Amino acid sequence: MHCNLINGEWRGGQPAIVNRNPSDLDDVVGEYASASADDMREAVAAARAAFPAWSRTTPQQRADILDTAGNEILARKQELGTLLAREEGKTLPEAIGEVTRAGHIFKFFAGEALRAHGEMVDSVRPGVEVLISREPVGVVGLITPWNFPIAIPAWKAAPALAFGNCVVMKPAELVPGSAWALADILQRAGLPAGVFNLVMGSGRVLGPALLDAGINALSFTGSQATGERLAADCAVRGIKVQLEMGGKNPLLIADDARLEQAVECAINGAFYSTGQRCTASSRLIVCSGIHDAFVARLAERTAALRVGNALAAETQIGPVASEAQLAGNLAYVEQGLAAGASLLCGGERLQLASRGYYQSPALFAGCTPEMAISREEIFGPVAAVLRADDYEHALQLANDTPFGLASGICTQSLALATHFRRHSEAGMVMVNLPTAGVDYHVPFGGRKGSSHGPREQGRYAAEFYTTVKTAYLGL
Ligand code: ADP
Repeated sequence: MHCNLINGEWRGGQPAIVNRNPSDLDDVVGEYASASADDMREAVAAARAAFPAWSRTTPQQRADILDTAGNEILARKQELGTLLAREEGKTLPEAIGEVTRAGHIFKFFAGEALRAHGEMVDSVRPGVEVLISREPVGVVGLITPWNFPIAIPAWKAAPALAFGNCVVMKPAELVPGSAWALADILQRAGLPAGVFNLVMGSGRVLGPALLDAGINALSFTGSQATGERLAADCAVRGIKVQLEMGGKNPLLIADDARLEQAVECAINGAFYSTGQRCTASSRLIVCSGIHDAFVARLAERTAALRVGNALAAETQIGPVASEAQLAGNLAYVEQGLAAGASLLCGGERLQLASRGYYQSPALFAGCTPEMAISREEIFGPVAAVLRADDYEHALQLANDTPFGLASGICTQSLALATHFRRHSEAGMVMVNLPTAGVDYHVPFGGRKGSSHGPREQGRYAAEFYTTVKTAYLGL
């Protein structure tokens, strides 16, 4: 059984988390020890004890460890990608891509550890200089979701460690394997005991213990309901918080879009990774001039997508990650039908050669803005097409959402693309690209109900993982 990492030691626990492959439920990927609330408290105490020494290490020492970890992740991308595809269900190329991204993130933040963050400012007073420096926040809790089992842990842990913080990470119950592999790699890369702790198990049990044990900051990615509750709990405890909570991302198809390019963006954005991305293009807002041609071609392409075992070479769409997730998707399909939307294809559970959580991608047309399938984050391969009278109407529909993570437009007009970039109420805007699919070295995050607190990734990550100190020096 794979154990939790607390104060540099691997510690067992019960009950075991039995990790099954959603492509093939007869395949047990691994067994992982559930931690208790006491384990969590010990992990936070270990991180607290390790912090003074770790925060005083040189940037070079931290960079070397992160670089070593990044190199190992890249060297083992095939093996780690296979593990990830088995535990989460994204296709093998997508899984290897995610592992590669995780490796690059560690190498990027190895570089960031070395970059100077401070600035020297002339005082308004004579004989005084002002020095602004950045210091680590302290002990950082990381709570991560199941849909990016290694990339999200990487993009939280790497900057946390780079800037001298200690970490307690609780990965999602569904995907402990990739998080465990990451902890093992970091440990062997040379992190001192207690600097990085892995605590696996139930969020409901371990989350409150994490917050009550006295962390300084919490970075969370997951559902809006959990995130909002955690934000309130952090506020009363004075814990700095960063939340990423999903989206209902619009992809706007303007009348002048290149048809095949727009359809490709929709297929990729709505259905790749089985639609299980917070940046998925789940709302397709199509201007009336191109609507019928776009919908006909998209339906043809959607129906032809090959759903199958994540490890099979011909598979384009892997399984849904869990039984609960699949049931939720199918319930949304029922709601869409009951609300009067037209199901053009898909939306059914599939029985394939291996026993798994397979579903045909569902494409709805004739959706209205009020329907649940148009408003709520589904987190599965279910896409809603809304017809817009013109670009202005489409923009209004695109912004008519409580979320604001990513948005996209397909157009050949620079003027329209520019107008959309300026008026979209999303944190990330794509032009002639799917809403999903982002670089690892630039900020990631949204507005409105999607995100809270400073941005993740790129050099902007320093905002969350450091705190500023202003020193006045009398000369
Ligand atoms: P999803 O519905 O996608 O699983 P969740 O928000 O439930 O999203 O899960 C995201 C992460 O939050 C997981 O690691 C989960 O264990 C954790 N989590 C769930 N409930 C809580 C909670 N009450 N406190 C802290 N973490 C939680």
